[in-house]
Amino acid sequence: MNACVFCRIVAGEAPSTKVYEDDTLCAFLDIRPIATGHTLIIPKTHAAELDDLDADLGAEIFRAGHRLALAMRRGALAADGANLILNDGRAAFQTVPHIHLHVIPRRKGDLFGVTKGFLLRRSHDPAGTAASIRAGLAALDDDNARDIEGTQP
Ligand code: AMP
Ligand code: ZN
Repeated sequence: MNACVFCRIVAGEAPSTKVYEDDTLCAFLDIRPIATGHTLIIPKTHAAELDDLDADLGAEIFRAGHRLALAMRRGALAADGANLILNDGRAAFQTVPHIHLHVIPRRKGDLFGVTKGFLLRRSHDPAGTAASIRAGLAALDDDNARDIEGTQP
């Protein structure tokens, strides 16, 4: 059995609540969210730290984080912003040695500091939360399709 829990999630051998997946990336809810909707984006191939990560794949991970942060504003989560955080290495408090980008939706007035938030985790409704993020992604896709139609002669 693969010792890496995130590789096991990719292989479907460990449970997760996925919100997005493509050929190279997978995004799922953090098991101990610091805010409802806290999502992790990982490369499907194992890379422990940035030193092991292909730079183009890193750019793809950030692109997906950008998109998810926008989706969190559109869906029922109605986020006003997001923290995108990548802890690289144990010195940076990385606890799971498979690169992951945290996308943490924020609301005006939620006032928690991210460091404190990592200590005070909140309970949540994973199925409903994932559904609202997926709805936000679909709304983004609709907007993009309308924009493309609008630019066609
Ligand atoms: P980091 O400190 O940046 O390495 O964060 C690791 C994150 O992975 C933490 O926020 C954990 O709650 C989260 N985590 C650990 N195991 C799982 C899992 N099996 N499914 C989802 N999230 C996990
Ligand atoms: Zn792994």
